[in-house]
Amino acid sequence: MSTVQTRRVDAIIGGQKVAAASTFEDVDPSTGEVLAEVARCGKAEIDQAVAAARETFEKTWRHTPPAERGRVLRRIADLIRRDREELARLESLDTGKPLKQGRADADVAARYWEFYGGAVEALQGQTIPAAPDVFIYTLREPFGVTGHIVPWNYPIQISSRTAAPALAAGNCCVLKPAEEAPLTSIRLAELALEAGLPAGALNVVPGFGEEAGAPLAAHPGIDHLAFTGSVEVGKLVSKAAAENVIPVSMELGGKSPNLVLADADLDQAAPVIVNSILQNAGQTCSAGSRLVVERAVHKQLVDAIAELFSQATIGPGVEDPTLGPLITEKQRERVRGLVEKGRSEGRLVIGGDVPKGLERGWFWSPTIFDDVDGSATIAQEEIFGPVLVVTTFEGVDEAVRIANGTDYGLIAAIWTRDVGRAHWLAKEVRAGQVYVNTYGAGGGVELPFGGYKRSGHGREKGFEALLAYTQLKTVAVKTGKP
Ligand code: NAD
Repeated sequence: MSTVQTRRVDAIIGGQKVAAASTFEDVDPSTGEVLAEVARCGKAEIDQAVAAARETFEKTWRHTPPAERGRVLRRIADLIRRDREELARLESLDTGKPLKQGRADADVAARYWEFYGGAVEALQGQTIPAAPDVFIYTLREPFGVTGHIVPWNYPIQISSRTAAPALAAGNCCVLKPAEEAPLTSIRLAELALEAGLPAGALNVVPGFGEEAGAPLAAHPGIDHLAFTGSVEVGKLVSKAAAENVIPVSMELGGKSPNLVLADADLDQAAPVIVNSILQNAGQTCSAGSRLVVERAVHKQLVDAIAELFSQATIGPGVEDPTLGPLITEKQRERVRGLVEKGRSEGRLVIGGDVPKGLERGWFWSPTIFDDVDGSATIAQEEIFGPVLVVTTFEGVDEAVRIANGTDYGLIAAIWTRDVGRAHWLAKEVRAGQVYVNTYGAGGGVELPFGGYKRSGHGREKGFEALLAYTQLKTVAVKTGKP
């Protein structure tokens, strides 16, 4: 049962709560109940937020020394940890994810603020000894006002992942959370103010994609855009950024493979592969949605995975099952459509429908399709649900061909005891992160993360992201004896 009262939730602009002309209903996907009436922001509020961010950038934040910026960011981390249970529960209600995943997300969010709060002091320029009578140095400067468009699957994590390095580098942010799950991003802005972040440095403006996201992407007052979401919307945001000639980072979808060679430790691999697709009900950009397995161990591994799927519990996120619901009815119907297609493209091993007794909310059973050709629709398209697609191979060349045979290239895992083959495969696979005998689902806060091919470009996480939120200035000063 939901314990959060239906309440009005405003945008946070210039350090103030701001109500929009109307609101939209934010729904609990486990029950279909309305959790909150959220400010339905549009161009007017985006304009206001961009102006607030610009003012704070010019007056305060760009003059704040890195050590002080770092201290404020680390205080945000402390407050997230203080409110861990509240944030985990809110995230669980808003997205449907299991409570333990909500806690993990709060912990990771805190780590982003802590990591960038520390890393900022290592953000330094260079001196370049190009000529004896010219002193040349570089400065890493913030862009100014950065725009952040965030999806619904890991709201507090992704809001923190993108806003923390931007703020650390000295930028001020306008962040638009997804309409399906805006609550923890708004709460984050409140915690940031409590931590001492200047008003206007982090503005959170909820609303629909076309109404609030599009004006943010097209705004001439934005100097850098970070987008996380679908390829389709990513293209629109890229075009808008091109109109203003500003840099944009694209964290898009995936169809990431677990590549299992016959010599792999299958007992070690099976539970990790299961978690890589069932985590967040498969609604993870870096979900291990394809199993590409060598024919000799294929049956043994699929049997083991099916057994683990059958043990998975499913229910409302706050009851802490293995997996919760999908985010919306629309998303469930999309999954249903692809599963129906899958029936003619492979052999249904388990699942394939709404679980019995869970007709309320947007649940889907853990599903496996075996014997699927690598070119099939369900092996190519991101399903974004708890659906594992199994393809077999013979020899490493075919393994590489299948692994690289989609439009995506976000992450990949290789399972083998042969260290030489592991390194060779890690080099051949076209993905932004490669794991060997483990699966990181995006990895830790410190690991650069981002896509090859249609999975996007630019890198978030790690020190790379901090660099990406700066622009480099080179200064050359003529010297010599006066
Ligand atoms: P989406 O693209 O529909 O929405 C993402 C965000 O874009 C939301 O805030 C939405 O309101 C906004 N948006 C929608 N239309 C817009 C427009 N015309 N202009 C500007 N903004 C607009 O994606 P989604 O369905 O929310 O998320 C699922 C997708 O996100 C999946 O493809 C998933 O793989 C991807 N994703 C990628 C990563 C990553 O780091 N690579 C992380 C999470 C999700």
